Amino acid sequence: MRAGAGLQTRRGRVKAERAPPGAPTLDRMILLFGTRAFLEPIVTVTFVCAFCGLSVPQQVYRRVNRFTLFFIPLFTVSRRHFVECSNCGGTTALTEQQAHHALQWAAARR
Ligand SMILES: [Zn+2]
Repeated sequence: MRAGAGLQTRRGRVKAERAPPGAPTLDRMILLFGTRAFLEPIVTVTFVCAFCGLSVPQQVYRRVNRFTLFFIPLFTVSRRHFVECSNCGGTTALTEQQAHHALQWAAARR
């Protein structure tokens, strides 16, 4: 019988052949992968909130999703920016250009 071929059981089902002990097999390997989100505060800017209407500090965040293999982050899958109001907690999505502009705005007012 050639290696890797299935065995016919009495009921007619195909059963996988067992590898010799100690031999590496792919059918028993566990692969742990997924994504993990990282939230990075970038800068705090002050402007009138669109939700509560108050002029309060707004935190600009970058949320980065990274592909993980065995819980080790390997590479970035997606990147988003948003601003969160410190008064009401309302969030608004930003483009990367708007987040970069917020950084420049904060740097100019130091
Ligand atoms: Zn607000």
